[in-house]
Amino acid sequence: MDQTRAIWIKDPLAILADGAERGIVVRQGRIVELVPKGGQPATSAACFESGGHVVLPGLINTHHHFYQTLTRALPAALDRELFPWLQALYPVWARLTPENLELGVTVAMSELLLSGCTMTTDHHYVFPAGLEDAVDIEAAVTKRLGMRALLTRGSMNRSQRDGGLPPESVVQDEDAILTDSERVVAKYHQRGEEAMVQIALAPCSPFSVTTSLMKATAALADQLDVRLHTHLAETEDENEFCQQIHGCRPLDYIEHCGWLNARSWLAHGIHFNAAEMKRLGRAKTTISHCACSNQILASGCCPVCDMEEAGVGIGLGVDGSASNDGSNLMQEVRAAFLLQRARYGVGRVSHKDALRWATKGSAACVGRAELGEIAVGKIADLALFKLDELRFSGHGDPLAALVLCGAHRADRVMVGGKWVVLDGAIPGLDVSDLIRRHSAAARAMQYG
Ligand code: ZN
Repeated sequence: MDQTRAIWIKDPLAILADGAERGIVVRQGRIVELVPKGGQPATSAACFESGGHVVLPGLINTHHHFYQTLTRALPAALDRELFPWLQALYPVWARLTPENLELGVTVAMSELLLSGCTMTTDHHYVFPAGLEDAVDIEAAVTKRLGMRALLTRGSMNRSQRDGGLPPESVVQDEDAILTDSERVVAKYHQRGEEAMVQIALAPCSPFSVTTSLMKATAALADQLDVRLHTHLAETEDENEFCQQIHGCRPLDYIEHCGWLNARSWLAHGIHFNAAEMKRLGRAKTTISHCACSNQILASGCCPVCDMEEAGVGIGLGVDGSASNDGSNLMQEVRAAFLLQRARYGVGRVSHKDALRWATKGSAACVGRAELGEIAVGKIADLALFKLDELRFSGHGDPLAALVLCGAHRADRVMVGGKWVVLDGAIPGLDVSDLIRRHSAAARAMQYG
């Protein structure tokens, strides 16, 4: 199909939009028309018959660590909570090379795309010697796959020597981190609504970064006008660490560092009290809820409905593939739905809430109001699912079926008006070859 012509995605089985029963028209990367029941498009367009498809806004992943696809289900890290889990994995991650990072990133992004994700973030914070070009490697893979991404220049500079959790082998010094942060923003950060690659700055966590670096990073993000990201309020261990080292709770600490504002989105946000949620809401700081990771590491349950009532925006994240251990965002929608419904009950959490978190909610986390919604003028990032597998047989409501029957694979994915997944596959990607090379790299890294 000529990808420059207008396309009418015609007569979908269902669509997550009001007044678009006969579909939508996409032209030059934007949604230009919603076609209501009984209507016809005003624009001349090629038809894409979508009678077998459920059409969603492209899902947006707000938290991940792509390199961790190389350490999924690692025996040494099984059945541990966050701190001992990290301590088991740091020495393995210290062996990360440019070649295996490239494979890890390709696997993570391919999994995401095939699950209906059109934009992802990545939080890369491990920079052992020789891996100074990590963000450059990620940017190259992003471009090759045609995905939209907000790559973060992560960092760790508080090693065990300075009372932190990570070993010396995976940290860098503050000057090197800030200099490289400026470099990657200048080189890769695109501005404007059509941006495909953007950069944010992302010190890893209160227990692996110094106060000086937290403050300097916030100042640099202000100066460069880019977003800020970190892990926060993930575990009780982190609360204790903050009390001991900083004499306050995690939210007080990041406020002291200049982070409590609309520029920041935080991964997890499990252990905030009611007053802290109100402060987050007033500051317009958003939360990336990572339901699978939180359950596997038994970190707790993010109080999503209380957060929303306090005015805090919620997005979804698959988190690293060593704490999920997959990168399937559609499955994450189901996980978030189940976890939050169990917590709050049937009256407060529906499948539509979970889909909203993964689309419009996630778009707010990454600062992209032009994404995450099917409406005129929005960017044409879309995920189309078929309901022709055994798991869907006999379904009623198609949108509910996606979440309740466990959709896990998109049939088609569009990014900025271009198809990047066709018939459940990424054109040009040899998946068997990728699995073979990625598995070999993972084995080499795990067994050193
Ligand atoms: Zn994480």
